[in-house]
Amino acid sequence: MQNGSQQGLQDWLAGFRDRALAAGIAPATLDALEAVRFLPEVVEKDRKQDEFTRAIWDYLDRAVSEDRIVLGQRAMAKHRETLTRIEAEFQVDAAFVAAIWGLESSYGAVRGDVSTLSALATLAYDGRRGAFFEGELIEALHILQNGHVAADAMLGSWAGAMGHTQFMPSSWAKRAVDFDGDGKRNIWSDDPADALASTAAYLAAAGWKIGLPWGIEVALPQGFDFQLTGKRSQKPVAAWTALGVKSVAGELPPDTWAALLTPAGARGPAFLVTDNFSAIETYNVADSYVIAIGHLADRLRDGPAFSQSWPREERVLTLDERKEMQVLLTLHGFDTGGSDGKVGPLTLSALRRWQADRGRLPDGFPTVEILENLRKTRP
Ligand code: CA
Repeated sequence: MQNGSQQGLQDWLAGFRDRALAAGIAPATLDALEAVRFLPEVVEKDRKQDEFTRAIWDYLDRAVSEDRIVLGQRAMAKHRETLTRIEAEFQVDAAFVAAIWGLESSYGAVRGDVSTLSALATLAYDGRRGAFFEGELIEALHILQNGHVAADAMLGSWAGAMGHTQFMPSSWAKRAVDFDGDGKRNIWSDDPADALASTAAYLAAAGWKIGLPWGIEVALPQGFDFQLTGKRSQKPVAAWTALGVKSVAGELPPDTWAALLTPAGARGPAFLVTDNFSAIETYNVADSYVIAIGHLADRLRDGPAFSQSWPREERVLTLDERKEMQVLLTLHGFDTGGSDGKVGPLTLSALRRWQADRGRLPDGFPTVEILENLRKTRP
């Protein structure tokens, strides 16, 4: 693709204006586009995003650091009255709202200082996911048109996520609420009330069950069948208990449906996760994110750290290595359904079948050793 430029963006905007008018944006609102700038660093970050992978334990170290726990407890104390009212109105546990706030913007301290219009216009024009970002840009213009925030105060991340809990404009349109009653759904201002209530509304719409843990840490018995793990295989907690799965910390009601997750395979912690785990997934689908939110919420309420350790000696496979693993597994007769580098259900199943076929514990956790073995024994 050719390199973008300010002139290229201006040309793109000329065509975009007509589409925005057709989508109900008034000519006066479009004046805000005069200040839009091409942001090369946004394009660069967008292209880089998928390439690097951090181990879940490294991610959790940063996401649920002592600092973030202490600052979060302070923020919850400071905003206790607001959070208590939000919890009652939306029936979403305040600690989870606070945890999302903590991870998305360090409790409002890092809300992002990039012009949302410039970020979205750059991403819409640049093309990798142009149609998606053009839709977001039109939503952002609707927000301005309705007077919820001034264009120069509409700031956020390089990817167009805005305010205390980093809503995309389309999420704002669906879920943002005016909690302080001033008529504006203002998630950008120093006062976090609207943003926190909006996040609670978001989780409520995703089916939040108040009082239900996101999940609990569990210990697995010797000889446990790892084929039973994975987000798609829920069972009642009583059925897991019958299989020898034991709580390490916390309790779930025996009739609650839960799935068993082992994000780092047999040598890392195991979790039984509930429908509230799935609700958090609607914010960000990465397991590491959802576990971080759940665990931070627990720690904000003085819950314990995980008791099982992570296999920190392992290096996580790079995107290219994961693609290579998929190609090799398929060559070995364990079809991964393609080689996009994403370890989805088909890849997980192929890896587990390969592991079982080789007399290994089929935990589905890809390691450097497995990749090297696949290379050495390449058919
Ligand atoms: Ca408001």
